[in-house]
Amino acid sequence: MLVIKTQHDLVEKLNDFRKKGHSIGLVPTMGALHEGHLSLIRCSLSRDSVTVVSVFVNPTQFNDPEDLKKYPRDPDADQKILEKILRPGDLVFMPDEREVYPEPDKRVFNFGILDKVMEGKFRPGHFNGVAQVVSRLFDMVKPGHAYFGLKDFQQLTIIKAMVHMLDLPIQIISCPVIREPDGLAMSSRNIRLDEKKRKEAPLIYRTLSEAVRLKNNYTVEDLKQWVVDHIEKHSSLRVEYFEIVHTDTLQTVLSWEEPGDKQGCIAVWAGKVRLIDNISFT
Ligand code: AMP
Repeated sequence: MLVIKTQHDLVEKLNDFRKKGHSIGLVPTMGALHEGHLSLIRCSLSRDSVTVVSVFVNPTQFNDPEDLKKYPRDPDADQKILEKILRPGDLVFMPDEREVYPEPDKRVFNFGILDKVMEGKFRPGHFNGVAQVVSRLFDMVKPGHAYFGLKDFQQLTIIKAMVHMLDLPIQIISCPVIREPDGLAMSSRNIRLDEKKRKEAPLIYRTLSEAVRLKNNYTVEDLKQWVVDHIEKHSSLRVEYFEIVHTDTLQTVLSWEEPGDKQGCIAVWAGKVRLIDNISFT
């Protein structure tokens, strides 16, 4: 694998690969790599003859400066992990901020309600920042495929909407949530959990799974309340929101009778660490 720091080197190398007929897959990450990221990378390795893994903690998607400061960063460990999994021709793109944003990105995307609900409501500006960085990466890499985790369910919906809006010739591939053996969704933020919160955190997915089983005994509204009460009664975790939405529009589901796929999405505070997860109610 080759570690590349500048846009110039990246574009040059990729043009070369494209001329030789390679298919290019992009896996955008913010580093502190874990099995969740590696599952996306494996997926690209199985489909594309060149995989580009980007590692960049994007400041424009952090609405909370404290969160940006505390976000785990370990580029040396990331490189060691990537060396083991990537092939000789694959690329790791580790730019600094000026490479990604030579000047401040002032673009404002209009995603309608998609970025107003759930994460968008509690993290204003977050998805605009995500769209800025992902569109910059798409522009530099011009991949045929780009891989995103269902862990960030709303993000995936927004990226798909952006690709549609900008009419980009990129296929977005969604990959399943990778979990710890106790069910906790893997996240770079998990290492910030203290021992007590780490023990409590699997309750999030246990409760979501139980809610799917209980679905027919409750109205949508009552089940949402049950999830919040159950988590808060049995732990020191605090639920920021739990919503059940239509998968494609992110509109709130009002009744189980409404047609179409449904997803339950949750954000929980474990002390000062914010965790998200989701589950299918279809
Ligand atoms: P991040 O580094 O947190 O920005 O995540 C980079 C990519 O990895 C995103 O597409 C995430 O959805 C995906 N990802 C993060 N955690 C997981 C997980 N536990 N399972 C599957 N994908 C994940």
